[in-house]
Amino acid sequence: MSNEQNGRVALVTGTSRGIGAAIAADLVKAGYRVAGTSRSGAAPEGVLGIAADITDPARVDAAYKRVEDGLGPVEVLVANAGITRDGLMAAMKDEAWGEVIDTNLSGAFRTVRRAVRPMTRARFGRIVLVGSVSAYVGTPGQANYAASKAGLIGMARSIAGELGSRGITCNVVAPGFVRTDMTDELPENVRAEYLKHIPLRRAAEVGDIAAAVRFLCSDGAGYITGTVLPVDGGLGMGR
Ligand code: NAP
Repeated sequence: MSNEQNGRVALVTGTSRGIGAAIAADLVKAGYRVAGTSRSGAAPEGVLGIAADITDPARVDAAYKRVEDGLGPVEVLVANAGITRDGLMAAMKDEAWGEVIDTNLSGAFRTVRRAVRPMTRARFGRIVLVGSVSAYVGTPGQANYAASKAGLIGMARSIAGELGSRGITCNVVAPGFVRTDMTDELPENVRAEYLKHIPLRRAAEVGDIAAAVRFLCSDGAGYITGTVLPVDGGLGMGR
């Protein structure tokens, strides 16, 4: 273990699989003490796994209490948990809109809100929100998802402005097309269409996203805030 970060406490949401599991495992390897939440509570080895639905503020608060009791105050937060409920706009049900906004945008809001006071007290904090290239390129069939991810950018920049004087940074990492359960569900023709527009001609691996997140969480990234870092193989470049 490199112990790069001297045992700082990190909380990652959505660690039961996919990108969140990779981020949590990567932070453990870099020397953080890591807790991870999801509805199931599953988390990779070395991560304190906690069951908490981010659509429920009481469960979010209870999760923080468990981290504080077990590891100490959260210094690094990665709000990664997210869902899709795709459908064309004309036929999109209120439930599909509401669930996605409540999880991806309001869930991140609840998670960050609970982190802010302890970070302010410590005069140190790293907050990374996992967004998406969809926020600025738009994705047909994903108006709800793209809106939730675009919302994260405005939220991150507002937080950056509010809390910068306390040594707290807030940034967005915007993955493009990543190989996970979420994208494995897509039809083959949609996957092939994406690859045509990616200059690097491959999907991202979860480790590509984890490496970018780790950098923004590090002490060395202390002068970077309010930014959106695309990790998308060039898919959204210039937008
Ligand atoms: P995934 O494999 O579906 O994993 C999503 C994670 O979020 C799971 O651990 C899930 O755990 C958790 N989660 C979902 N709803 C939750 C809730 N209400 N409360 C707590 N945890 C919840 O997705 P992924 O592909 O790794 O995506 C991770 C993030 O990256 C998401 O924000 C996604 O929008 C973003 N992203 C992904 C891609 C991609 O290509 N995959 C591209 C751009 C952005 P439980 O089911 O156990 O709750």
